Amino acid sequence: MRLGDVEIQVVLDSRKQETLAAVMRSGGEQVSSSVPQGKSKGEREAYSVSPREALEHFSSIKTALLKKEFNCLEEFDNFLLHLDGTKDKHNLGGNLLLVLSQTFARLLAKLKRKELWQLLREEMIRIAPDLRRRFYWRKFFKKEAPLFLFNLINGGEHAVYGPKFQEYLIVPVLNNPCDSLALGKFFFSKLKQYFWDEYKKQDFGDEGGLLIPESFYEKPLEIYSVIREKLHLKNKVRFALDVAASTFYDKQRKVYYLFPSKVISAKELLEVYREIIARYNLISLEDPFEENAWEDFSKITSFCRRKTVIIGDDLIVTNPTLLQRAVAEKAITGVIVKPTQIGTVTETLKTIILAQRKRIKIIVSHRSGETTDNFIADLAWAAGAWGLKAGAPQPEERMVKYNRIIEIYKKQAEFKILL
Ligand code: PEP
Ligand code: MG
Repeated sequence: MRLGDVEIQVVLDSRKQETLAAVMRSGGEQVSSSVPQGKSKGEREAYSVSPREALEHFSSIKTALLKKEFNCLEEFDNFLLHLDGTKDKHNLGGNLLLVLSQTFARLLAKLKRKELWQLLREEMIRIAPDLRRRFYWRKFFKKEAPLFLFNLINGGEHAVYGPKFQEYLIVPVLNNPCDSLALGKFFFSKLKQYFWDEYKKQDFGDEGGLLIPESFYEKPLEIYSVIREKLHLKNKVRFALDVAASTFYDKQRKVYYLFPSKVISAKELLEVYREIIARYNLISLEDPFEENAWEDFSKITSFCRRKTVIIGDDLIVTNPTLLQRAVAEKAITGVIVKPTQIGTVTETLKTIILAQRKRIKIIVSHRSGETTDNFIADLAWAAGAWGLKAGAPQPEERMVKYNRIIEIYKKQAEFKILL
């Protein structure tokens, strides 16, 4: 297949910052895609260029892209990697490569008259043909929807005030995503009411969750428990945290700034988690330590024994090599998948395949600065992901992701075949 035309545009994300969108045309079809941007970024993420630089870089590769014939997504992505020529996408920018890669995947799906998630599965099988074997078949191609992880109280770098922990999430543990979304919205409405009554105000953070005028890290969990108790939802709703511990870690002193008046060591932080886990029975805990603390991750993972999923985000940055290390060191039981961290869809799929093979739970995630593109919902479905983390069930850029999962879930009955 040859591209008819490609354009790169500069658009605004949910924080009103400039990001990239692409439009591609071929065979009478036209598709587009856009990419989000993170704030609490891992230091080993693919390099991002400014959208203005991306426009310049794009004009230097456009002719090469239009001249070449591509038979699959992997060929397209490999060509992008070849044009960039660096490990961390330093020349062209991971954000430019990803917006092209995502848009190409959409175009291929459209030309093949397939849903995007079907195309992504097909690509996974192309990369790893043994996935067709029965053992993997059931694991990957289950028809269950991912759990929804709703971030209802924003802290850390996603908030202008509040505790150091970045995300306080509620997770409806229900099979039907329509029920999960309804429950997420209901819980959020009760929480907003609680904030009016208690704090007489409602401010919102980067991911659409509330800001809390308290600095104590446990306060949001206390409030969640009160509401859950009142609503008799103990069996239906669990809690989770994304600590994003790198954001309050001092590299020189090797301490964490969790409290306003004192610093604590990794050992003391582990004690904090032991208490929280015992008290709130967390379903998952993301980035509990800074992004180079492999041993501390292994310690907490061994302590939790899969009862609380220990998730690596900044630790792994969707990179198969780092995931391989985490598997060898038993550092995590879950991995965040964010295509922007690695820079192409094919590399993202390789991380997903490895995670599935090694029984690491996959949580496909949005970024704090989002667009209304719902690409990651199809990715989560294709991956057979355990969870989808897309913020509060309110702002449009977050809702489109949850709604797309519901749409696929409802349509799945129509698909007689799994690919
Ligand atoms: C996260 O840390 O999980 C996250 C979504 O934050 P950001 O996009 O700011 O990196
Ligand atoms: Mg995170």
